[in-house]
Amino acid sequence: MASNVELYLIEQFLKLKEIKVIDYRIIEDIGIFVSLKNTKKRTICPRCGKTTEFSLHQNNFITVRDLPFGEQQVYLKVNRRLLRCNSCQKKFSEDLGFVRKRRRYTKRFVKNIIEEVLHSDIKNVAKRNELSEQEIETMLKDLGQDLVKEKPVNLNKLGIDEIAVVKGQKNYYVVLVDLEKRKIIGLIEKRRTKEILEYLEAWGEGVLSQIKEVSIDLWKSYKSIAKKLMPQAKIVADRFHIMKQVNDELADAPPRRFPPSLARTKQMQLEEKLKEKRKRLKINQKKRLS
Ligand SMILES: [Zn+2]
Repeated sequence: MASNVELYLIEQFLKLKEIKVIDYRIIEDIGIFVSLKNTKKRTICPRCGKTTEFSLHQNNFITVRDLPFGEQQVYLKVNRRLLRCNSCQKKFSEDLGFVRKRRRYTKRFVKNIIEEVLHSDIKNVAKRNELSEQEIETMLKDLGQDLVKEKPVNLNKLGIDEIAVVKGQKNYYVVLVDLEKRKIIGLIEKRRTKEILEYLEAWGEGVLSQIKEVSIDLWKSYKSIAKKLMPQAKIVADRFHIMKQVNDELADAPPRRFPPSLARTKQMQLEEKLKEKRKRLKINQKKRLS
């Protein structure tokens, strides 16, 4: 059984809203499994739109992948409950906030993967993270949809980059980056001038007129787009600049740490395993020599 202190520390480490950590388990060679409990008492009912209390209709436990801890994968076990609204009496699946409906990974996991893709490519990132290329393409779509709803705030330096999607004919996602905050702020599915113009125009004059610098790839359409929508901005043709920023962000991010006792347990397990391996190796060598 995990101690309360351990659970509290893991909770602090995960930083999820209205979520309590109730247990954790390490499964060797697979990862750390953390069981969560939702403490939310009220929610917005997607059926009637009211902020309301609810009753439980059905449990629905799912396991979702979260950001890794060191070399360990982290999985969150959580109940995505089927609820009944106390106002309209209709049933709905609860919105967990940190994970999209029908997905098996957290939103922040998606952001990290896409940032990785930005300075690598889909194929390699898929391989490194044990994901399929299809899953990463779905992530691109999901993140794109989430970002459409957010307007950039205090955007001074805009970077425009792209991600090649391998499947089918050569497709590109255009990636918009806030270079000061080092954050992806937009994903556009097509590299056509029309779509990019529409996307940026939707940010509005208030956002566009504040932009002081646009860092772009050498593709000339980006330059004409920047000149048209942000005539006041200085244009910098520097592709690696953007990728470096995102890289640095990953490097700068504080390391995620689990409580020491947890790390120790893992360390001991690893040592055990190594001993076992060495033993087997010796036996095999002896066999071969004899
Ligand atoms: Zn309702």
